[in-house]
Amino acid sequence: MISYDVIVIGGGPAGLAAAISAESEGAKVLLIEREAKLGGILKQCIHDGFGLIRFKEKLSGPEYAQRFIDEFHKRGIDYCVLTYVIGIEKLGHKIQDETEQRIEHKLEHDTEYKSGHQYEVRVVNKKGVAAYITKTIVLATGCRERTSKQINIHGTRPSGVFSAGTAQAYINILGQKPTKKCVILGSGDIGLIMARRITLEGGKVCGVYEAKDSPSGLTRNIMQCLDDYDIPLHLSHTVTRLYGHDRLEAVEIMKVDERMDPIPGTEEIVECDALILSVGLIPENELAESLHTDIDPRTKGPVCDQEFMTNQPGVFICGNALHVNDLVDYVSESGELAGRAAAHYRYQDKEYVSIGIDKEFLYYLPQRIHIGDGKGETIFYFRSSRVLKNADITLALNGKEILKKKYRFLKPPEMESFKLDISQFNLRRDDRLTATLKGENP
Ligand SMILES: Cc1cc2nc3c(=O)[nH]c(=O)nc-3n(C[C@H](O)[C@H](O)[C@H](O)COP(=O)(O)OP(=O)(O)OC[C@H]3O[C@@H](n4cnc5c(N)ncnc54)[C@H](O)[C@@H]3O)c2cc1C
Repeated sequence: MISYDVIVIGGGPAGLAAAISAESEGAKVLLIEREAKLGGILKQCIHDGFGLIRFKEKLSGPEYAQRFIDEFHKRGIDYCVLTYVIGIEKLGHKIQDETEQRIEHKLEHDTEYKSGHQYEVRVVNKKGVAAYITKTIVLATGCRERTSKQINIHGTRPSGVFSAGTAQAYINILGQKPTKKCVILGSGDIGLIMARRITLEGGKVCGVYEAKDSPSGLTRNIMQCLDDYDIPLHLSHTVTRLYGHDRLEAVEIMKVDERMDPIPGTEEIVECDALILSVGLIPENELAESLHTDIDPRTKGPVCDQEFMTNQPGVFICGNALHVNDLVDYVSESGELAGRAAAHYRYQDKEYVSIGIDKEFLYYLPQRIHIGDGKGETIFYFRSSRVLKNADITLALNGKEILKKKYRFLKPPEMESFKLDISQFNLRRDDRLTATLKGENP
């Protein structure tokens, strides 16, 4: 079995950045990707708007990915594509079951094996099943879209109901038009981008319907994808029923109240051959869960510390597998930091201080800070749970303010971040870190 210092799972922007940064810190790295090509979801995002923060340029998804793929290949990092990670096992758990001979051999060569702080990553590809040994793992498995089954729409079950990402893959990868006339449910960024894409391909978008009273996508996407193409956005509306036998023929739309319950008497039938769903993304974390990482119910991704390490020693997380990012620049940033930390990781018992947050936050990352070693700036990421004007974020240590930042506007679809050198406060185990958010109604 081949051994690595770092195994990165997922070849999207997060995984590529993690692999490059771990390799540049001197680690022996393997990247594993289940698809045929590297680049992750960016392969199908042919619109522009990527890389504005990092490269100060407006790149398409494939252009952005290619910069990292070129750098990755230049460094000669080991990788395998069309290879699916089917399981990860902590070797400490296996040691009891192994033959004396193998244990002796491993102990002779590697003392970390004994302490159980190595992992066996099992993969399947066209050659069969294989396994690799590694000291650390960076999970960069991305996220997946919520499906129609997860939002319970009544009616028949005809074809023509697509997630926005699937519709995007049909058009941009397969060159096929999935609809002539459609309704889009949900105002997430992918739905907005697909409203414009379908229109450009000659299809009709009857409207984008959003159950909440404010859009879920970025303001720039509302303007560039809907307003510029006269596509109506209907807030506080949802699809309540599907009609059609083999293919979708129409959907029923209803207004919803503030609790998002449909209001009787507001039914409207809209004829269409497709319903495109853009109703949320969820971090893909089957592997993380199989390793018993703690999952944050707010992000739906693993709980992590300032070095993107989960509660499992040597298991790091980044990109959309950690939390759903609005901009790819932040995805690459988290990959780089997780890769670097993985390359320098040595097992040691660590103590942590958790960060308490109030209900004005949708979420806050990292959820905990490990104390002791580690100098330098920590990047904090957060989203507000509602739109706030003239907002202040305050970070306090044992009730004493250590940071205050002002924002003119905070909106749940737009993630914010700031940096702070938390090591300067010499945290101790009993310390209390709290983040609060205060702002006005817009
Ligand atoms: C439609 C759409 C439009 C977007 N538009 C913009 C935009 O305009 N501007 C912007 O900045 N950002 C945009 N984003 C956001 C940005 O593209 C994503 O946040 C980013 O690509 C996520 O990167 P990632 O590496 O975390 O995940 P992904 O790109 O999803 O990569 C994860 C990879 O992991 C692999 N994988 C998963 N499980 C396994 C396994 N078990 N074994 C092996 N491999 C596995 C997957 O095959 C995949 O290749 C958009 C995203 C989408 C979906």
